[in-house]
Amino acid sequence: MHTCELISVGTELLLGDILNTNAQYLSREMASLGIGLLHQSTVGDNPGRLSSEIRSSLSRCDIIITTGGLGPTPDDITKETVCEALGFRLCRDSAILADIESHFTRRGKVMPAENAKQADIPEGAAVFKNSCGTAPGAALEKDGKCVIILPGPPREMKMMFNESVRPFLISKYSDGVIISRNVRTFGIGESDMAHRVSDLLKSVNPSVAPYAKDGEAFLRVTASAESRAKAEALLLPVIADIKSRLSDFIYGIDYESLQEAVVKLLSEKGLRAAFAESCTAGYISKRITEVPGSSSVFECGAVTYSNAMKTKMLNVSPKTLERFGSVSEQTAVEMARGVMEISGADIGVSVTGVAGPGDDGEFPEGLSFIGICGAQGSFAERFETGRKNAREYNRYVTASKALDMLRRFIIKNY
Ligand code: ATP
Repeated sequence: MHTCELISVGTELLLGDILNTNAQYLSREMASLGIGLLHQSTVGDNPGRLSSEIRSSLSRCDIIITTGGLGPTPDDITKETVCEALGFRLCRDSAILADIESHFTRRGKVMPAENAKQADIPEGAAVFKNSCGTAPGAALEKDGKCVIILPGPPREMKMMFNESVRPFLISKYSDGVIISRNVRTFGIGESDMAHRVSDLLKSVNPSVAPYAKDGEAFLRVTASAESRAKAEALLLPVIADIKSRLSDFIYGIDYESLQEAVVKLLSEKGLRAAFAESCTAGYISKRITEVPGSSSVFECGAVTYSNAMKTKMLNVSPKTLERFGSVSEQTAVEMARGVMEISGADIGVSVTGVAGPGDDGEFPEGLSFIGICGAQGSFAERFETGRKNAREYNRYVTASKALDMLRRFIIKNY
């Protein structure tokens, strides 16, 4: 198997100003090409440190991919540094220069003189056209090693990767396929989940690895083989085994999020849902409407913080509020029923609770009641996130719990 390392270039990455999404994208792509990714590093716009990183990477792997530092300004030093490390000469390419000039003329601008240096190409390198920017990329091959330089802006980098770099790597360096599937669960802790599949965690191909994020627990199942079909065949029985052990905790495989699973279910069943939120204040509605196609399943979202608005907008009885309080099972049920009846949606979902930080005197931080109402009847569940001083986490995980309850309600009743 060929091996690869990624070097992300840019001081803004080191300062934490931007998230390194290029590294995430390229890591996945390398895995899918069956190229083993050994190491990732981030270097500021500094020729000395970049040069030493390139040399040490080259001593360990076959392929280096750099992103960033191909711009026209003096701090863009990747191409020059890579050429110097590998002993390549830079030559101005008149066809590429004309391409860069026309990039500006098409936008009614004159090319600044500084951009001309982007037409300097390492002599003998494979050059990758930039379809949505000015800096071309390149692959410099020497002594069985290859350094691929790509632009930093993610849109340019991805387009260049898809159009030119992937075909280049497949033709020269890909000798297998690695496929990963993500089994996504809600409502079970990471350690409980890992315990139920503990024997599978020892398996090598496919490998099974647990991880947790934002109140959810996942299993990443990864298989490598010489073809996609063979890798898929290795994954199939292991995924089936995991499904039988984790059953309805699994909300999806390879979904991006709970809201994606919920929107898919609602649209498959032809249902519309409405949401009444107090402590999550629109978080569920936001997450649902992030999913493309949600307009066919999302009826409305009402944010009703005060008791007066719970009564005025959702018909929650003042007597219920007085007797049981705003954070109660009874209020949650009436909120869910109210938003369903007023909106005409098929299902109403409600949340009322304490987001924190700090307890509200009666209830602990992170406690909520989540209500569901449909033609079959209504109910509410008490839910606790168990975290202190974590307003954002509490709001997010409470919204996740409401989405999961809605998911289970649809599966059971429709
Ligand atoms: P430019 O011509 O825009 O200068 P460049 O190839 O020199 O392109 P950089 O200057 O390093 O690239 O980065 C340009 C922008 O691209 C950064 O400000 C940042 O917004 C984005 N970017 C760079 N590297 C990454 C990365 N690893 N992950 C996510 N975004 C990145």
